[in-house]
Amino acid sequence: MTGTGGALADRLAQGTVLGAEGYVFELERRGYVKAGAYVPEAVVDFPDAVTELHREFLRAGADVMVALTYYAHRGKLRQLGRESELEAMNRQAVRLARQVAAEGGALVAGNVCNTWAYDPHDPASADVVRAMYAEQLGWAADEGIDFVIAETNDYLGEALIGLEVSQELGLPAMVTLATTGPAKTWDGYDYVEACKILADHGAAVVGLNCDRGPATMLPLIARIREQVGCAVAAQPVPYRTTEDSPTMESLRAEGVNRVFPLALDPFSCTRFEMADFAVAARDLGVNYVGICCGAGPHHVRAMAEALGRTVPASRYSPSMDLHPVLGTAASRQDRAVLDAWNATR
Ligand SMILES: [Zn+2]
Repeated sequence: MTGTGGALADRLAQGTVLGAEGYVFELERRGYVKAGAYVPEAVVDFPDAVTELHREFLRAGADVMVALTYYAHRGKLRQLGRESELEAMNRQAVRLARQVAAEGGALVAGNVCNTWAYDPHDPASADVVRAMYAEQLGWAADEGIDFVIAETNDYLGEALIGLEVSQELGLPAMVTLATTGPAKTWDGYDYVEACKILADHGAAVVGLNCDRGPATMLPLIARIREQVGCAVAAQPVPYRTTEDSPTMESLRAEGVNRVFPLALDPFSCTRFEMADFAVAARDLGVNYVGICCGAGPHHVRAMAEALGRTVPASRYSPSMDLHPVLGTAASRQDRAVLDAWNATR
């Protein structure tokens, strides 16, 4: 293994850690993941596509390469008739993440998520979830990861299982909650209280990921930051959620049958909005600042630069002064051309 406790803590001690996720969303847009199931079959079918996205996030400044094992658990693979490839998919995902991480000194995270198999009223379901996490994270630990990200947890109970399995493997865990409800996990814990419980149980990092955009995640993460002692993570989706529609799932648009998950584009945050989020989160004391479903490398680079970094992809960061109409050369343009550009009707 590459590390059993120190690497994540060391990186957090150095300052804000920048995360980049949303792999299944982005690979779906690129034609390598099927929407609906959202299982990362590309890990075995198109490994180059996965490697490329890792590399794009790395060049944009991500400090962590997250192995693409989101929804690569036994229950989901059985549904797709690919259960026999479960181990190969999980091991390959870690290898791809490790290979790219080594190109830029990034950390490697193993990844588990909500399983849709957990039922707080059925104790047997906890055993099913535990077994799925144990095999996924066992393979990940065997391949070599620095820590575990257990994420999009709708239930505190399921989140605690992910944490316990990580601890049994001697791996630090970042455990983050989904926030589809207004205030509570699906098993009835206030989000702040749930984070405190996860911290008390020894999570290295607690917080929120997915579902909410920056505008509706920041107020909640501010309360969590005030109330927990350990490191805090915030990885919103880059969509313009509002008080009335606090999650990407609740966004609505006239004439659109369903906005989530395939028609979210008009709600996308710009790179500037995500840069502002990164600074705001850092200033709140959030230690792990990232981005989830909908993320593009341009968002990540803007966030990295807003945090004061120059990253490999900064070589191609915008220089609008070089633009023939918008830049310094504009004065040499014909007046009619400039007027045509700026005209509104
Ligand atoms: Zn997400």
